[in-house]
Amino acid sequence: KKFVYSFNEGSKDMKDLLGGKGANLAEMTKIGLPVPFGFTVTTEACNRYYDEGKKIGDDIVASIFEKLEELENTTGKKFGDVENPLLVSVRSGAKISMPGMMDTILNLGLNDQTVEGLAALTENPRFAYDSYRRFIQMFGDVVMEIAKTKFDAIFDAKKEEHGYEFDVDLTTEDLKEIIVGYKALVKEEMGRDFPQEPKDQLMEAIMAVFRSWNNDRAILYRQLNEIPDSIGTAVNVQSMVFGNMGETSGTGVAFTRSPVNGEKAIFGEFLVNAQGEDVVAGIRTPQPIAEMAQAFPEVYTEFTRIAELLEKHYTDMQDMEFTVERNKLFMLQTRNGKRTAPAAVKIAVDMQSEGLIDKETAVMRIEPAQIDQLLHPMFDAEELKEAEKLTKGLPASPGAATGQIYFNASDAETAVANGAKAILVRLETSPEDLAGMVAAEGILTARGGMTSHAAVVARGMGKCCVSGCAEIKVDEEAKELTIGEYVFKEGDYISLDGTAGDVLKGQIKTVPPELSGDFAEIMSWADEIRTLKIRTNADNPRDAKQAVEFGAEGIGLCRTEHMFFEEERIPAVRRMILADSEEERREALKFLLPYQKGDFKGIYEAMGDRPVTIRLLDPPLHEFLPHTDEEIKALSEQIGVPYEKLAKKTQELHEFNPMLGHRGCRLAVTYPEIAEMQAEAIIMAAIEVRKEQGLDIIPEIMIPLVGMRKELADVKATVVKTVEAVLEREGVKFDYLIGTMIEIPRAALTADEIAEEAEFFSFGTNDLTQMTFGFSRDDTGKIIKEYREKGIFDDDPFQSIDQVGVGKLVKMAVELGKQTRPSIKLGICGEHGGDPKSIEFCNAVGLQYVSCSPFRVPIARLAAAQAAI
Ligand code: PEP
Ligand code: MG
Repeated sequence: KKFVYSFNEGSKDMKDLLGGKGANLAEMTKIGLPVPFGFTVTTEACNRYYDEGKKIGDDIVASIFEKLEELENTTGKKFGDVENPLLVSVRSGAKISMPGMMDTILNLGLNDQTVEGLAALTENPRFAYDSYRRFIQMFGDVVMEIAKTKFDAIFDAKKEEHGYEFDVDLTTEDLKEIIVGYKALVKEEMGRDFPQEPKDQLMEAIMAVFRSWNNDRAILYRQLNEIPDSIGTAVNVQSMVFGNMGETSGTGVAFTRSPVNGEKAIFGEFLVNAQGEDVVAGIRTPQPIAEMAQAFPEVYTEFTRIAELLEKHYTDMQDMEFTVERNKLFMLQTRNGKRTAPAAVKIAVDMQSEGLIDKETAVMRIEPAQIDQLLHPMFDAEELKEAEKLTKGLPASPGAATGQIYFNASDAETAVANGAKAILVRLETSPEDLAGMVAAEGILTARGGMTSHAAVVARGMGKCCVSGCAEIKVDEEAKELTIGEYVFKEGDYISLDGTAGDVLKGQIKTVPPELSGDFAEIMSWADEIRTLKIRTNADNPRDAKQAVEFGAEGIGLCRTEHMFFEEERIPAVRRMILADSEEERREALKFLLPYQKGDFKGIYEAMGDRPVTIRLLDPPLHEFLPHTDEEIKALSEQIGVPYEKLAKKTQELHEFNPMLGHRGCRLAVTYPEIAEMQAEAIIMAAIEVRKEQGLDIIPEIMIPLVGMRKELADVKATVVKTVEAVLEREGVKFDYLIGTMIEIPRAALTADEIAEEAEFFSFGTNDLTQMTFGFSRDDTGKIIKEYREKGIFDDDPFQSIDQVGVGKLVKMAVELGKQTRPSIKLGICGEHGGDPKSIEFCNAVGLQYVSCSPFRVPIARLAAAQAAI
């Protein structure tokens, strides 16, 4: 088996084996671009490293050295050779890119001898010693795990000693002294000398990269992005080129189009006389790429030619790293660029009209979960006008954020856990800040460019970020942010406009976004492609209207219990519950009837002629009663029911396991008059709206929590009797449907019988998941978290459907239901209806619609289209 590939042996289709970076380096080599030669140790070698107890097998070591020799022959340089030393970079690269999460080592191969060789060869001793000190520092940090700050202390002390302002002020002699200090530090920390043998350096570095696959931030990043732990990382060993060889050298990162707004123009940054990490690490704030055209006009022309070629070759926006060594351009990486949702939409639509991709590909290019960003608020224009603009930084990731300032990731996390909205303010973010960035509303940094980690990671998360804000002073120790004359302390409010890069004073109201233009275009393509219908879960006209604006084609679930909680009705609801006789109960229900009718009219009107499924009351009645003694006392005074009676009733209704208790159709079986009132309200509302608006409403009445045919038949009889009586009384006739939810495993198992009574099934996968696993919906969060950490669950089964188990029940119910009633309508209204992976599943098993909350409707439209492609 082959564990090591030279760059001329691979291609872009070998990402599983070579990782994204390795596969693309091979591809660029194949198409003749200037790529420094090297080789890739495969992801399989990484997995073997872990399988074999964190050791690299002898056969793999032998292959690495074989490829090293090939690299020496190709470059004409030799590892450890004083005359013409080969220096390499050692970089991670998984199949799915994880920017900045794993480790990199540059300048490997330098030692006390080769550094002199490099100095002589380049006639640039300062450069050679600077490279050596960088190498020791990186190797010490990554391989030996010595705190970076200890190296920084030695470095900064030297600068201070001479009163230098910039790193470049350090002389060769200074650098030599720093190296002596670094080596002493290594000896002290490790009890051994810094390794002088390049082959030892190489093997240690490769293993360190493998190890970094399992560092905390990489693990967290994989969890957040649902990247499996099992894929491992490859390691790329590439001969070094130097961007820090003086004013004719430099390094940069660029995108073929703007990853922020999608504009078609090279977008990026570069630094003269610097090495790669300086750009992405956000330590020096780089210059915009346009200035490269002035510094290196010919190289820039060549670069734009290559950028265009790469974009056409991959037919997608590319994110490229390059280095210029003494006026010669080298490509170090290309990959499909990460982008914000607005950029993703614009690029997809533009590339389709440029003829680069077709509509299907354009639709596939947008991450459904990502368009969430487009649906979220921007600042209220009026309030924004009034707001005081404090300063401007780089618009690193769009959107609006308002919240309280916190100066480190863990403070921000704690504050958010306690209900605050946080803005994370940092000098510069490092990958260790990831958890704090997740928690915060927005991120503000003093340093770092548009391609710094903070910017890249924030864009990926759709989180508002303003970076490289040079005019702010951040004192992380004192927890103070100074902007001009203002000093902000922890907990003070600021606002960020990630689209403009503005930092604003105080809190600013936010408003919903625009949904036209390119977004509307791509959604219309999605609508052409998909076959699943998209409905929404809504129980008031406001949500229903919002959902229609987002493209909902009906209501799949209207939960009627929410209406019972409204202030003027809850006393009647309680009277109904406390009633001693059916008669008393009917009295209370009579009071509720007009309210319910009004609710349903409002919803029908909001939905026009789109179908509406209304579900009969589901939750256990005790939810409508007070629980604590004080609450019971207060209520007894308020409604004039004796305390004892109220307390006794509460006691009676108490359930140990209410989710498995007196709820769903069981309520209607025991108190048919509740179902009667609801059925009457549903039909009367339809009659009136039909008359008043001329809408052809066909009510869909849904009976929840059914497990047996007879149960459904019982409640159905009540509903049919009521509906028919109302229709006759009102002298009208129209169709209506009666169906059920499939949310109890027994219902799925006996769906053929249930379908005899039901005209439609709507899968209530919240309850179905709960009951299939025997995991309480409400109390299992902690267990699920631990199960995910242990790898027992890949996903939370309450968010993404468990296709193996719960999915099997769904599939079975679909088949059994169709056997009995081929025309049966099938949909899903559990939370899974808005989850892209689950939507793919629903499409595959032959459901006709998914129903989800209004803000997930566009996500569902897109996911349904992708499922159909
Ligand atoms: C379900 O159980 O999936 C469902 C939609 O109903 P509810 O969440 O109201 O129980
Ligand atoms: Mg349910």
